[in-house]
Amino acid sequence: MSLCSLTVHELVTLLQRREVSPLEIATSCLQRIEAVDARVRAFLTVTAEQALEHARAIEGGRGLAGIPAAVKDNLCTRGVRTTCASRILENFVPPYDATVVARLVQAQVVSLGKLNMDEFAMGSSTENSAFFPTRNPWDLERVPGGSSGGSAAAVAADEVIFALGSDTGGSIRQPAAFCGVVGMKPTYGRVSRFGLVAFASSLDQVGCLTKDVTDCAMVLQVISGFDPMDSTSARMEVPDYTAALTGEVKGMKIGVPREYFGEGVDGAVKEVLQRALQQFEALGAVVEETSLPHTEYALPAYYILAPAEASSNLARFDGVRYGLRDETADNLLDMYGSTRARGFGPEVKRRIMLGTYALSSGYYDAYYLKAMRVRRLVKEDFDRAFARYDVLVTPTAPTVAFRLNEKVDDVLAMYMSDIATIPVNLAGIPAVSIPCGFVQGLPVGMQVMGRPFGEADLLRAAYAFEQHTGIRALKPGLEVA
Ligand code: GLN
Repeated sequence: MSLCSLTVHELVTLLQRREVSPLEIATSCLQRIEAVDARVRAFLTVTAEQALEHARAIEGGRGLAGIPAAVKDNLCTRGVRTTCASRILENFVPPYDATVVARLVQAQVVSLGKLNMDEFAMGSSTENSAFFPTRNPWDLERVPGGSSGGSAAAVAADEVIFALGSDTGGSIRQPAAFCGVVGMKPTYGRVSRFGLVAFASSLDQVGCLTKDVTDCAMVLQVISGFDPMDSTSARMEVPDYTAALTGEVKGMKIGVPREYFGEGVDGAVKEVLQRALQQFEALGAVVEETSLPHTEYALPAYYILAPAEASSNLARFDGVRYGLRDETADNLLDMYGSTRARGFGPEVKRRIMLGTYALSSGYYDAYYLKAMRVRRLVKEDFDRAFARYDVLVTPTAPTVAFRLNEKVDDVLAMYMSDIATIPVNLAGIPAVSIPCGFVQGLPVGMQVMGRPFGEADLLRAAYAFEQHTGIRALKPGLEVA
């Protein structure tokens, strides 16, 4: 078995025993990238030289030191191109690291490069990348999900040991579900957003994609915590997340909101979830049906609020300060217009127009303000549920991974892919997606949602489930010649 197929915690043990070196692990991952990435296409930039040089200089064995990873290409990396999978930032090289990247550097994680995504994180399939789509390692004719599709595919294909992504409406959890890996969206404010290129600032959160729940706890530990550079980051202690990995869920109260099992959710996906819930009962958890009555309004509210914030955030890409500039324009206004017309792809333009419209005078009350009120109602549903339950369990996505091109012309069908993940961002609560079974050979994700700053509860439930099912032991085929 090659080193790249192991988990963080397995490699840490080997490093501590000095049975392997960081250089051997990095080399194994780079060989794997060489062997499979022409088909998977998870990477936008591979920093092989720097990785090997870095790995040579590291001891390894303490925390994440010597573990190779890569991050989504909307996280700023000093001296390394950060494109957001957009033409407008195709040649943008940030002068600083995002706080989460700096924390990985400090932990001596070996960076392998930058991962593909939907342009500016807008999408659910990675088909909105301006460069190329990423493919699902379980079936190369299918999408890996999005927008952190490169992150999920790279982890599933063993190209990296773990990855970071961002989640505004499901962009860590839905690709994690489609690719059969663990994806954690922490509480809003748990992890710094400094250096994450903003999409919708009140919803964006950085998180991790890993091969199992133990790795999730280990990586979350390193990236969490207060950051003076992000005014929305929380001044709160970070608990010891690995301490939550007890394997015990006896007496844990699990709510199952019926709205997440309705029409539009694939029957076979529902069955896999039902079996997972029976597993929890068998482990001694108390599983009860409950209701989050405003669920159906979350998606429409999101598609007002997220584009509204995006239209404002993306105004900075004007050809003056960052990235692309149309040099042929002969006056300033034309330069703004033609730079943006050439630099942004169709989905980004759609969001900017939607958002600008929703915020325009005369429409603000009817759309933006109303959506904010809905957001409050969605949040209150969760508050009521968490007064009774420790966690809530739902499918992460209504289907398994769909085929490439299947939904590109049907914007609404694409948006529906996030129906189960979006309410979590509106409420600012944490949620994790873990593999819970298969439908026709494709992974199904289970979403566990928790109270604000209740990441430890999520990890406890997820770990107990993982330990008793052994589902993560399966790997995608991807035969290498
Ligand atoms: N798919 C959703 C969207 O297109 C969510 C994206 C995300 O979480 N970044 O907006």
